Amino acid sequence: KRYVSERAEMIPPSGIRKFFDLLLTMNDVISLGVGEPDFNTPWNVSVAGIDSVERGATAYTSNKGLEELRDLISSYLISRYGTSYDPQNEIIITGGVSEGLDLAVRTVVDPGDEVLVADPCYVSYSPCVTLAGGIPITLPCPAEDEFRITPDTLMEKITRKTKLLMMNFPNNPTGGVMKQGDLEAIADILVDHDLLLLSDEIYSELTYEGRHVSPASIDSLWERTITLNGFSKAYSMTGWRVGYFCAPPEITAAALKIHQYVMLCAPTMSQYAAVEALKHAEEAKDRMVAEFRMRRNLFVAGLNRIGLPCHLPKGAFYAFPSIESTGLSDEDFAERLLVEHQVAVAPGSAFGPSGIGHIRCAYAVSREDLDEAVKRIGEFIDSL
Ligand code: PLP
Repeated sequence: KRYVSERAEMIPPSGIRKFFDLLLTMNDVISLGVGEPDFNTPWNVSVAGIDSVERGATAYTSNKGLEELRDLISSYLISRYGTSYDPQNEIIITGGVSEGLDLAVRTVVDPGDEVLVADPCYVSYSPCVTLAGGIPITLPCPAEDEFRITPDTLMEKITRKTKLLMMNFPNNPTGGVMKQGDLEAIADILVDHDLLLLSDEIYSELTYEGRHVSPASIDSLWERTITLNGFSKAYSMTGWRVGYFCAPPEITAAALKIHQYVMLCAPTMSQYAAVEALKHAEEAKDRMVAEFRMRRNLFVAGLNRIGLPCHLPKGAFYAFPSIESTGLSDEDFAERLLVEHQVAVAPGSAFGPSGIGHIRCAYAVSREDLDEAVKRIGEFIDSL
């Protein structure tokens, strides 16, 4: 008898896991491999979590999440991005954007629906679609398009079965962004084909050339968009597991049914910490973003200097240079760089076919470590 379901069998293990396992067995490694800020959670935010425990506020919250937090999110979204979501029936606090992705896909995808996944992308996108019975279809966002979705590539992939477009800008792993004009160019196509949009905006605070544009701020897109965001990256809160799901009321009500059975509510202490983050962590956040910007400039200049062509990423904290000139596959490059020169990066192909021939380097380490990493990568390339 087979115990594991077909759907669970169908999803592959994460393509970056192997490198982390290897890394754990090694010393003196500079890790540009993980997508995590290296800063501590701002202390006042942590204290708010600790306070909630000390006060005994450790029971479930409502399924939707703390009212105060939903109110703050609603005000933040309108003032920062011009997106309007009613805290009563259009926002759910989730266990990170990770839960939000799974929740969103299961809320709108039926078995056999095709889901366009802007590629390369975060490793969970296609598995989430597969687990919901949908069919993930990659939508290429290559370097020559500055890692954006273009109307032509979108049109090419749409069929009668297409239900949803899943995208993440600023993007992990490329650092690419979609500006107002880019979004307007695809908005009409989404409307004409009556497609839904799932917009993962977890890096929205980390932009280096102008503000993030949220698709739901475009009138024609609001009614067909699910907006996901969270606290992990902007406030260095990856372990707190708190994010949010925003959508029109009909979609939110359906999502809330799934969320209440599967998650019940996001962690209570983390919700109190998130309240503090939105109220009193603006300065800490701005300091972290400024530091990421400096590191980006330094690191990308270093990569180009040693002969790895790299677009200047416009957001998030990843550089995505091409390693094609070395003649190695991205997997071999990452493995040999780790074993021979003790620098961990992620192979681009782990994030989808458009990532082939690239490596993802998270510049979420100190400037000294970035300098040393550039030196070691340079030595590795020279040794080839
Ligand atoms: N979405 C993207 C694009 C990510 O890069 C990540 C984490 O790396 C997540 C979602 C997961 O976020 P969370 O910590 O909120 O679950």
